[in-house]
Amino acid sequence: MSNPKTLERLLVVSNRGPLVIKETAVGTSASRAVSGLVSAVEPVIEKTGGTWIAWCGRKTNPPGAGGTWPVPSIQPRYVVRELTLTPHEYRNYYLGFANGCLWPLAHSFIDRCVIDLQQWEAYQAVNRRFATAAAQEWREGDVVWVHDFHLALVPEMLRREHPQARIAFFWHIPFPSYDIFSTLPWARELLRGLLNCDSLAFHSDLYVDNFLHCASRILGLKVPRGDRTFYWEGRTISVRALPIGIDTERFRALASDPRVRRQAAAIRRAVGTPILVLGADRLDYTKGILERLQAIEIFLEKYPEYRREITFLQVAVPTRTEWKDYRELRRAVEETVGRINGRFGEQWRVPVRYQFRSLSPEQLVAHYLAADIALVTPLRDGLNLVAKEYVACRLDNSGVLILSPFAGAAEQLTEAVTANPYHPHHVAEQLRYAVEMSPEEKSRRMKLLQQTVEEYDLTYWWQSILDSLAETRPRKVQPLSWKATPGWGEARIR
Ligand code: UDP
Repeated sequence: MSNPKTLERLLVVSNRGPLVIKETAVGTSASRAVSGLVSAVEPVIEKTGGTWIAWCGRKTNPPGAGGTWPVPSIQPRYVVRELTLTPHEYRNYYLGFANGCLWPLAHSFIDRCVIDLQQWEAYQAVNRRFATAAAQEWREGDVVWVHDFHLALVPEMLRREHPQARIAFFWHIPFPSYDIFSTLPWARELLRGLLNCDSLAFHSDLYVDNFLHCASRILGLKVPRGDRTFYWEGRTISVRALPIGIDTERFRALASDPRVRRQAAAIRRAVGTPILVLGADRLDYTKGILERLQAIEIFLEKYPEYRREITFLQVAVPTRTEWKDYRELRRAVEETVGRINGRFGEQWRVPVRYQFRSLSPEQLVAHYLAADIALVTPLRDGLNLVAKEYVACRLDNSGVLILSPFAGAAEQLTEAVTANPYHPHHVAEQLRYAVEMSPEEKSRRMKLLQQTVEEYDLTYWWQSILDSLAETRPRKVQPLSWKATPGWGEARIR
C-alpha cells in the first residue's frame, strides 16, 4: 500500500468539483458541493496537496478560465482551478453529449441515446479546455487523476502535451457491452482517449471485460484473457476493477449517534406497521423506481395478509429536473404511488409513502436504521453506494438487502438477496422471501456483507488506484504478441 504522506502531488480533473461558485449581488461566492465523487476524492487530495480542475457550475460567454480557489480558504490544503462553460457548451457538452448520449448509452438505454454532431463537437472542445488546464498545471512527478465519462478524451489530449505524465482514470458509471458501445459513431475516439492513461479503473469485472472487448473489436487491441496489465502504443496500461468503497467509520459513527437513533425510532412510530421497506434513489430512469412500485403492487395483490403489515417508503431525490424525460418519469412514479395507495390504502393508512426530496446524511442513516429491508433494484447502476451504506449502518446485523444484479455492487455484495428489476413478479417474490427470512439467516448474510464493505472501504479504493499506477511505472514489460487469442471475439461477457 502507498503511504499517503509520501504520495506525489495530485492533479484531479473532473466535470464537477468540491465547490459551487455563483455570482451574487455582492460578488462571487463559493460554497461546498456535496457529491459521492467529492467524498471519495477529497480525502486523497487533502493529504497530497495539488490542484482540482473542475467546472463549478458557472456559465459565462465567452468561456472563462475561471479563478483559483484555495480549499479550505483558511489554511488551504489544495487549490480548485475553476473552468467555466458557455451556455452553448452547457447545453451541448453537459446536458447533450454527456447526459443525453453517454449516460443512456453506458446504462444500455440505447433508445434514449441522442447522437448529435454538434454535441460531440462541444464535448471535444470542453475536453480540450480541461486537458489544456491540466497541461498548464502539470509538473514533473505529479499524478493526474481524471474522472468519469464527461472527460474521456482528456488523457489523450494531455499526453500529447506531456508524454511522460502519469495519468489515472476512473470511469464511475457502467461500461456497456460491445453491441451497445459500437453504436456510438465516436466509439473509437473515446477508447483511444481512455487508453492514453496508465491506469484505468471501473467498478466491476464486467465493465473491464466490456471495455477490453470493445477495445479489441474496435481498435484491434489484443489482450490475452485474464491479463489486466498490457502494452499499447509503447506504454504499459493497467485496467482494473476497483469498486469504490464507502467511509465505513463515518457511517458507523452516524448509526451509533443517539440523535440519529432517536430519528430512526420516530420514523418507525410514524410508519406504524411492523415492517418497513426502503427505496432511496435519485429519480433517474436507470434506478428502476417505477418497476419497483409495480413489484410492490404485485406483492400487495398476491399476499393480502401483508397489507396491514408492511409500508414501502420511497425517497426520490430530485435530479435533472430541467429535462422533460425526468419530469415525465416523476409524473408516472407519482401516479403509480397514487394508484397503489388508492387500491390498497385504508382510511388512516397507506402502503406506500413517497418523498420527493434529498435527505441529509443524518436523515438518510436514520432511514437506513429504521428500514427492515432495503430494496435496491436499479435497472442498471455503475455501483450503487446506497446498498453499501445500508449494510454499513446495520450494526446489529439485522435487516435484509435486496439488490439488483445490474448494480455494479452486486459483484461484491454476493450475500444480498438478488431480484431482477425487469421482472416485477420476481422482485415481489424476493420481497416475500426477505420478509419471511429467519433472524439467523438475516444475521449470517448481513455479517458477511459487512465484512466486504469494511474490507473494501474508501481508503482501500483510492490506495489501490494509486498502487495500480505504480505498477505501470517500469517500462520493461515485453510487448505482447499480437497473435489473436483463439475465441477472444466470442469470449463470454459476464
Ligand atoms: N444520498 C443522499 N441523500 C438522499 C439519498 C441519497 O445524500 O436522500 C446519497 C447517498 O448517501 C449516496 C448517494 O447519494 O452516497 C447516491 O449514490 P448512489 O451510488 O447510490 O447513486 P447515484 O446517485 O450516484 O447514481
